[in-house]
Amino acid sequence: MLLNIGLDDTDSPEGGCTTYVAALLAERLIALGAEFTDYPTLLRLNPNTPWKTRGNAAVCLRLNLDESRQGDAKRAVIDLVDRYGEFTCENTNPGAVFNVGEVPWEAREFSDKTVRRIVELEEAESIIDRHGMGAVGWKNRRGIIGALAAVGGTLEGDHTYELLAYRTPENRGTRRRVDPDSVRAMDHALRDQTFNNVDEHGRPLITPHGPDPVLYGVRGESAEAVHRAAAMVRPLEPVERWMIYRSNQGTDAHLGPPVSIGDLRPYNPAVVEAAVAGTPKTITGGHVIFRVADPSGEVDCAAYEPTGSLREVARGLIPGDRVRVHSGVRELEGGLTLNIEKLEVLGLAEDVELRNPRCPACGGPTESMGAGQGLRCKRCGHRGPMERTLQTRPRAIKVGVHLPDRDAHRHLTKPLERYGREQTYRPGPMFSPWIGWGGGPVLLSPSSSAL
Ligand SMILES: [Zn+2]
Repeated sequence: MLLNIGLDDTDSPEGGCTTYVAALLAERLIALGAEFTDYPTLLRLNPNTPWKTRGNAAVCLRLNLDESRQGDAKRAVIDLVDRYGEFTCENTNPGAVFNVGEVPWEAREFSDKTVRRIVELEEAESIIDRHGMGAVGWKNRRGIIGALAAVGGTLEGDHTYELLAYRTPENRGTRRRVDPDSVRAMDHALRDQTFNNVDEHGRPLITPHGPDPVLYGVRGESAEAVHRAAAMVRPLEPVERWMIYRSNQGTDAHLGPPVSIGDLRPYNPAVVEAAVAGTPKTITGGHVIFRVADPSGEVDCAAYEPTGSLREVARGLIPGDRVRVHSGVRELEGGLTLNIEKLEVLGLAEDVELRNPRCPACGGPTESMGAGQGLRCKRCGHRGPMERTLQTRPRAIKVGVHLPDRDAHRHLTKPLERYGREQTYRPGPMFSPWIGWGGGPVLLSPSSSAL
């Protein structure tokens, strides 16, 4: 019997990780005789949600399990959330959803919506009721939203993979130890099938910084690619377990078609096509702010300090430039601000400047004698009919897509190297092994058949 188990919101800024609970659960389900029909789904939800815990990740496990074992499966879920949920955090409100059989269309639509905007618990609960799904919520039960979204997130369009390796308990909270040279070598060898391994300076990006149990995560275009890549990474501390997820990370799934400035809503992702309406300014902290306008209104756009080189592009804009801003909508005292995740320059205005001519008598510089008073040579004092000329200055920025520095990317942001790699999902045999415990992934010899 086909069973989909969605999980969300077990982590907190102080620790935990929903994917880790899912990895423990997968081990228990395999012991109950489960046969997985797809990789665990790692679904990143709307990154602008104000009450998100950390990365806003929800997970779904999809498997065939004998009907007699389904009660055991539910008990395993409840037991693991009770044990590993970070219940002391106000914003941690775990939820689990169980769907038997095919995933209803309505749950898929709900999932897309949850990635792109703010949704209400009532809507999730009515879908759960209508389709006879089971749900368990802890505290204010808000995790049920993400758990249902994870069930509905069947990722039939573009998707990526991530292999997450987890630390042993005694090392959690300490500095992660992974050989950086091995990460660079892996990136060099598998750059065409993986992404976001290293930053612009070759520093590894695969290790997170928080207190969660993740040692590293390798992202790529196939399960085989992330497995091969992870096997090349040399951890300098023990790996407790690892699992490969199929994900909407790196796909821009949160960004829909462009919306009018007049239709912007706080906390939603938004793509806006507009004209630059003012000269960009750099404010305290190194953030760059500029205003854009479309026929429905005007709004400020912000390239914050961590976006790094993206700020150079923002600073190079002038009024009249056409841009497509990919962003999250924030509500600040002064109104709405677009927090830029990606800046597309669609068209550059001409940067023209009115220049005073050189003096026809001596070649010296000229200056204005005041409004309507004509020009005078600063060197010889010559006056006479002299015309100002329009001078076009070269533009420092280029038409095209501009992204922040890599370490400032959102999980959902599609990196430049993924443009053209988009893929649709075709169900088929899973790569094996996709899960392991008691050590990290090891390189399969070319002759060894799937486990
Ligand atoms: Zn002169």
